[in-house]
Amino acid sequence: MEPIDGKKLSSTIKEEIAREVEEIKQAGGKVPHLVAVLVGHDPASETYVNNKEKACNKVGIESEVIRLEESISQEELLNKVDELNNDPKVDGFIVQLPLPDHIDEQKVIEAVDPKKDVDGFHPVNMGRMVLGLPAYLPATPAGILEMLKRYNIETEGKDCVVLGRSNIVGKPVANLMLQKTTPGNCTVTVCHSRTKNLEQVLAKADILIVAMGKMEFVTADMVKEGAVVIDVGIHRIRSDKTKSGWKLKGDVKFDEVKGKASYITPVPGGVGPMTIVSLLKNTIAASQGRIYG
Ligand code: NAP
Repeated sequence: MEPIDGKKLSSTIKEEIAREVEEIKQAGGKVPHLVAVLVGHDPASETYVNNKEKACNKVGIESEVIRLEESISQEELLNKVDELNNDPKVDGFIVQLPLPDHIDEQKVIEAVDPKKDVDGFHPVNMGRMVLGLPAYLPATPAGILEMLKRYNIETEGKDCVVLGRSNIVGKPVANLMLQKTTPGNCTVTVCHSRTKNLEQVLAKADILIVAMGKMEFVTADMVKEGAVVIDVGIHRIRSDKTKSGWKLKGDVKFDEVKGKASYITPVPGGVGPMTIVSLLKNTIAASQGRIYG
């Protein structure tokens, strides 16, 4: 078994991105500029946004966080989105999800100009992705494909099973693994809570991508010998063994499954760090007009 070291890989890619940003600066180009809109004080969202800001600083991308109160009305938030759509300084922006219950999340996603939608959640970018056209790809699925690529993991003709059908991970990663690309060219099956005989479906996976949000659900008996196992799940549990008092677990029982997998991503240090890298790449693509010219 080889663990896939997402932390190390993301550091390497961040160095590459930093060199690219420096080259843009040297050539007199515009420094890429990312904005994150954070509504309310959800601790997980605060952490994600802070990490994104730190990563931008590290690679030389200009970044800004707009903090808005939880009580903001939908109209005010949509006005803010409109302002960012029309601000020439801003190459790309994200509205950190989830949003408070009184705000229609889909309405906000669709208000973002697809050309600045570096989260890749707008239906235009999702649709272009499905058609195999240039698009901003959602960060977590794109990070997974980058990992497979950098580890030279063969995907062509393989049976890929995706466990989970969320709009941000399951559906897009299944679509990407289906594309006529490398990585890609898989025969893809997507499972969800209504899937019958789940164990039988999982057992045929050469590549198993788990994004279901159920801690350590996938055990060794569900996994085919030699499978590539990608664990997207993140669960924070109390621990008296760490300084912070918390530790992270995935959707896969890592200690068991690692004995059967050919490659496996740990939690933490697997998919998580790759997600931010994809966002940085999308921001550079936005500033350079690589997707929409
Ligand atoms: P989600 O919206 O929580 O959806 C979970 C999916 O799993 C749904 O499609 C659900 O089926 C399916 N599911 C749940 N229980 C099941 C069961 N017992 N059997 C079969 N299918 C089942 O998914 P998500 O937003 O993609 O998040 C999944 C996990 O990934 C979470 O732990 C999240 O924190 C983590 N995550 C990590 C990153 C990262 O950067 N590493 C990014 C995003 C998310 P139904 O559709 O039928 O309900």
